[in-house]
Amino acid sequence: MVTRSEVEAAGASPGADIDSLTGVASRRAFLDKLEERLQAQAEPRFALVLIGIDDFRAFNDMHGFAEGDAILQRVARRLRDASPRDAMIGRVGGDEFAVLLPTISDPTLVRHVSAAMLSLLSEPYDCEGRRHHVLASLGACVMPAGGLCTSDALASASLALGRAKRDGGRTIRFFKPQMRADVTTRLSLVQALREAFAQRQFELLYQPQVNLRDGRVVGAEALLRWRHPTQGLLSPAVFIDALAASSMAIDVGMWVLHTACAQARAWSLQFDSAPRVAVNLFGAQLAESRLLTEVRHVLRELSLPPSCLELEITETIALQQGDEVAGQLQSLRHDGVTLTCDDFGTGYASLSFLKNFPVDRIKIDQSFIRSVARDPVDAAIVRSVINVGQSLNLSVVAEGVETVEQRDFLLQHACNEVQGYLYGRPMQADKLTERLAEQQRFFGGE
Ligand code: C2E
Ligand code: MG
Ligand code: MG
Repeated sequence: MVTRSEVEAAGASPGADIDSLTGVASRRAFLDKLEERLQAQAEPRFALVLIGIDDFRAFNDMHGFAEGDAILQRVARRLRDASPRDAMIGRVGGDEFAVLLPTISDPTLVRHVSAAMLSLLSEPYDCEGRRHHVLASLGACVMPAGGLCTSDALASASLALGRAKRDGGRTIRFFKPQMRADVTTRLSLVQALREAFAQRQFELLYQPQVNLRDGRVVGAEALLRWRHPTQGLLSPAVFIDALAASSMAIDVGMWVLHTACAQARAWSLQFDSAPRVAVNLFGAQLAESRLLTEVRHVLRELSLPPSCLELEITETIALQQGDEVAGQLQSLRHDGVTLTCDDFGTGYASLSFLKNFPVDRIKIDQSFIRSVARDPVDAAIVRSVINVGQSLNLSVVAEGVETVEQRDFLLQHACNEVQGYLYGRPMQADKLTERLAEQQRFFGGE
């Protein structure tokens, strides 16, 4: 706990000016001090550092609020230890702290102090016998570039913090004026996406997934496209991140689920062995407690057997979720829905993910497939993933198969299914329908 005298020494008076949990300055007291500092000179020269704890919500969910509070207290203490004596520390949000460095404006020095904070905050935390690794991100700005009023200064530091978090966390970013422009661009993209959804400009394409041994289409991945009125058909690369981070993700995700399931139903009525349809989930959909009921509702409404639906999640998205989400996905698996780990191998905990998060299938990311026939490291990785799949009784799909050499490698190592340009690009549903009809004529209804 930070002592009262330390707080006073840092410039805050006791009482409402102090955050009762951590003993540092309250948000109000901190902002008053910031304002005072900004007004003190015509051209203020000092630095502001904003500190956010990465994934603190998930920490609270996993370990409970009491443990979360203990961490916040220790974070405050470590910030004090890492800061110069004249620094003022405040708690400006639930899991956000701010440090005002009144006499430092040289970016190199600010970086130096911030790095010391980050390093101290990254040390493990021991709480009554339990050891936690809590990571933080820092956003810094130097005045006057950061702004001349409290809201501008805080917004600048906050933009830098947002960038640090988006860049993966556990890092420091400095405010740059370009960040304001980036946010404006991002906001107008989200606005345009909202408009696009209302105007029904989103479409789904389907990319075949093929059984490697007999070449039959056994699945189709639904992939989102934006039919832009002037720019033509846009791929997710230009909009999916903005969409995933926006509040529309849940609605668009539901639309994708519904549309893909309706397509799966149409194929199941037309073909004896209809392909399973794979849908990618947004993180926000997983965080929703309604996922289980919504998926069950869609399946029931369309009379679609659960075995015709596959849900793809990335390990990064899955790991951000709590136990309750894992429970919902397991219930869906129990119903017969296939659960697949997408982009396998690109997250930071692939193997422990498989241990804690049961799935039916793993999809080897295309970054490993690209050079599988040429690069011995990629070849070894792909071989081991196939082996892991076989040992755990999981089916393995390889994504991004473009060449005969890649196919031969996968065939030789007994990979189950493939998806890639060699077998078909993402296509309109009716194109895939034609292909399925041809397949049915060739193979019959077996
Ligand atoms: P993903 O789920 O890993 O999808 C596979 C991506 O690889 C698709 O890109 C597909 O077109 C591309 N691909 C497949 N075969 C090949 C190949 O042989 N060579 C190359 N170079 N690329 C290949 P796409 O359609 O641009 O989608 C990109 C990502 O956007 C998806 O990656 C997924 O993360 C996201 N996404 C797309 N549609 C949706 C959606 O409806 N919902 C959600 N949540 N995410 C989506
Ligand atoms: Mg996918
Ligand atoms: Mg993928």
